[in-house]
Amino acid sequence: MTTSTPAVAGWFTTGDKPRLVASQCTSCDTLVFPPPPPEAASFCRNPACDGETHQPAQLSRVGRVWSYTDAQYQPPAPYIPTTDPFQPFALAAVELPEGLVVLGQVADGYGVADLAVGAEVELVVETLYEDETGERTTWRWRPLTPGRVVELGEEADQ
Ligand SMILES: [Zn+2]
Repeated sequence: MTTSTPAVAGWFTTGDKPRLVASQCTSCDTLVFPPPPPEAASFCRNPACDGETHQPAQLSRVGRVWSYTDAQYQPPAPYIPTTDPFQPFALAAVELPEGLVVLGQVADGYGVADLAVGAEVELVVETLYEDETGERTTWRWRPLTPGRVVELGEEADQ
Protein backbone atom coordinates (compact mmCIF):
# COMPACT_ATOMS: atom_id res chain seq x y z
CA MET A 1 0.00 0.00 0.00
CA THR A 2 1.31 3.43 -0.90
CA THR A 3 1.17 6.33 1.48
CA SER A 4 -0.63 9.53 0.57
CA THR A 5 0.79 12.80 1.86
CA PRO A 6 -0.05 16.43 1.10
CA ALA A 7 2.59 17.98 -1.16
CA VAL A 8 2.60 20.97 1.22
CA ALA A 9 1.83 20.26 4.88
CA GLY A 10 -0.82 22.32 6.62
CA TRP A 11 -2.54 23.94 3.64
CA PHE A 12 -5.54 21.61 3.50
CA THR A 13 -7.26 18.81 5.36
CA THR A 14 -7.79 15.38 3.80
CA GLY A 15 -10.59 12.82 3.89
CA ASP A 16 -14.04 12.82 2.28
CA LYS A 17 -14.68 16.52 2.86
CA PRO A 18 -11.32 18.26 2.52
CA ARG A 19 -10.97 21.94 3.33
CA LEU A 20 -8.31 24.55 2.77
CA VAL A 21 -6.72 25.84 5.97
CA ALA A 22 -6.11 29.58 6.15
CA SER A 23 -4.35 31.65 8.78
CA GLN A 24 -6.74 33.87 10.72
CA CYS A 25 -5.86 36.89 12.85
CA THR A 26 -7.30 36.44 16.34
CA SER A 27 -7.82 40.22 16.67
CA CYS A 28 -9.66 41.15 13.46
CA ASP A 29 -10.45 37.75 11.85
CA THR A 30 -8.56 38.61 8.62
CA LEU A 31 -7.92 35.41 6.66
CA VAL A 32 -4.80 34.66 4.62
CA PHE A 33 -4.35 31.74 2.23
CA PRO A 34 -1.93 30.14 1.73
CA PRO A 35 -1.00 30.43 5.41
CA PRO A 36 2.40 32.11 5.85
CA PRO A 37 5.17 29.98 7.36
CA PRO A 38 5.17 30.17 11.19
CA GLU A 39 8.19 32.47 11.34
CA ALA A 40 6.45 34.99 9.07
CA ALA A 41 3.02 34.94 10.69
CA SER A 42 3.57 37.44 13.47
CA PHE A 43 2.00 40.45 11.74
CA CYS A 44 -1.59 40.81 10.55
CA ARG A 45 -2.06 41.52 6.82
CA ASN A 46 -4.75 44.06 7.66
CA PRO A 47 -2.90 47.43 7.78
CA ALA A 48 -5.46 48.77 10.28
CA CYS A 49 -4.81 45.94 12.73
CA ASP A 50 -1.87 45.43 15.08
CA GLY A 51 -2.76 41.82 15.88
CA GLU A 52 0.16 39.44 16.15
CA THR A 53 -1.47 36.08 16.86
CA HIS A 54 -3.06 33.80 14.31
CA GLN A 55 -4.94 30.54 14.33
CA PRO A 56 -5.70 27.97 11.64
CA ALA A 57 -9.16 28.43 10.11
CA GLN A 58 -10.84 25.96 7.76
CA LEU A 59 -12.43 27.55 4.70
CA SER A 60 -15.66 26.70 2.86
CA ARG A 61 -15.54 23.67 0.54
CA VAL A 62 -17.66 25.24 -2.20
CA GLY A 63 -16.99 28.47 -4.05
CA ARG A 64 -17.75 30.16 -7.35
CA VAL A 65 -15.47 30.47 -10.36
CA TRP A 66 -14.11 34.02 -10.44
CA SER A 67 -11.90 33.43 -13.49
CA TYR A 68 -10.26 30.50 -15.24
CA THR A 69 -7.71 29.68 -17.89
CA ASP A 70 -6.20 26.84 -19.84
CA ALA A 71 -2.54 25.90 -19.28
CA GLN A 72 -1.57 24.83 -22.79
CA TYR A 73 2.18 24.92 -22.15
CA GLN A 74 4.15 23.03 -19.54
CA PRO A 75 4.99 25.34 -16.63
CA PRO A 76 8.69 25.69 -15.66
CA ALA A 77 10.15 23.98 -12.57
CA PRO A 78 9.23 23.47 -9.76
CA TYR A 79 6.21 22.20 -11.74
CA ILE A 80 6.47 18.41 -11.93
CA PRO A 81 4.94 17.01 -15.12
CA THR A 82 2.82 13.93 -14.48
CA THR A 83 2.44 12.97 -18.12
CA ASP A 84 4.80 12.80 -21.08
CA PRO A 85 3.92 14.48 -23.35
CA PHE A 86 2.47 17.31 -21.27
CA GLN A 87 -1.32 17.29 -21.04
CA PRO A 88 -2.93 20.75 -20.92
CA PHE A 89 -4.96 21.40 -17.78
CA ALA A 90 -7.34 24.06 -16.56
CA LEU A 91 -6.74 26.50 -13.70
CA ALA A 92 -9.56 28.18 -11.82
CA ALA A 93 -9.53 31.19 -9.51
CA VAL A 94 -12.36 30.48 -7.08
CA GLU A 95 -14.02 33.00 -4.79
CA LEU A 96 -15.01 31.52 -1.45
CA PRO A 97 -17.83 32.85 0.76
CA GLU A 98 -15.11 34.18 3.10
CA GLY A 99 -14.05 36.57 0.30
CA LEU A 100 -10.76 34.93 -0.58
CA VAL A 101 -9.94 34.03 -4.18
CA VAL A 102 -7.92 30.80 -4.32
CA LEU A 103 -6.19 29.56 -7.45
CA GLY A 104 -6.13 25.84 -8.13
CA GLN A 105 -5.95 23.26 -10.85
CA VAL A 106 -9.28 21.84 -12.00
CA ALA A 107 -9.96 18.21 -10.99
CA ASP A 108 -8.82 15.33 -13.17
CA GLY A 109 -11.18 14.69 -16.05
CA TYR A 110 -12.44 18.29 -16.27
CA GLY A 111 -11.36 21.14 -18.52
CA VAL A 112 -12.24 24.69 -19.44
CA ALA A 113 -15.35 23.42 -21.24
CA ASP A 114 -16.72 22.46 -17.81
CA LEU A 115 -16.18 25.93 -16.32
CA ALA A 116 -18.06 29.20 -16.42
CA VAL A 117 -17.64 32.39 -14.40
CA GLY A 118 -20.00 32.14 -11.44
CA ALA A 119 -20.36 28.35 -11.61
CA GLU A 120 -20.01 26.41 -8.37
CA VAL A 121 -16.98 24.22 -7.74
CA GLU A 122 -16.02 22.15 -4.72
CA LEU A 123 -12.67 21.35 -3.18
CA VAL A 124 -11.24 17.87 -3.75
CA VAL A 125 -7.82 16.41 -2.96
CA GLU A 126 -6.08 14.52 -5.75
CA THR A 127 -2.67 13.05 -6.43
CA LEU A 128 -0.23 15.63 -7.76
CA TYR A 129 2.64 13.23 -8.37
CA GLU A 130 4.23 10.08 -6.98
CA ASP A 131 7.77 9.62 -5.76
CA GLU A 132 9.60 6.87 -3.92
CA THR A 133 7.80 7.73 -0.66
CA GLY A 134 4.30 7.48 -2.14
CA GLU A 135 1.63 9.79 -3.48
CA ARG A 136 1.81 13.54 -2.99
CA THR A 137 -1.56 15.24 -3.00
CA THR A 138 -2.85 18.75 -3.64
CA TRP A 139 -6.23 20.48 -3.69
CA ARG A 140 -8.19 20.93 -6.88
CA TRP A 141 -11.53 22.42 -7.88
CA ARG A 142 -14.23 20.10 -9.19
CA PRO A 143 -17.09 21.64 -11.18
CA LEU A 144 -20.51 20.93 -9.63
CA THR A 145 -22.28 21.72 -12.90
CA PRO A 146 -19.82 20.38 -15.52
CA GLY A 147 -20.40 19.99 -19.20
CA ARG A 148 -21.37 23.53 -20.16
CA VAL A 149 -22.33 23.22 -23.79
CA VAL A 150 -19.97 24.96 -26.18
CA GLU A 151 -21.33 25.28 -29.71
CA LEU A 152 -18.98 24.05 -32.38
CA GLY A 153 -17.25 27.03 -33.97
CA GLU A 154 -17.98 29.35 -31.05
CA GLU A 155 -14.32 29.92 -30.28
CA ALA A 156 -13.28 30.16 -33.95
CA ASP A 157 -15.73 33.01 -34.51
CA GLN A 158 -14.09 35.30 -31.95
ZN1 LIG B 1 -5.72 41.44 12.37
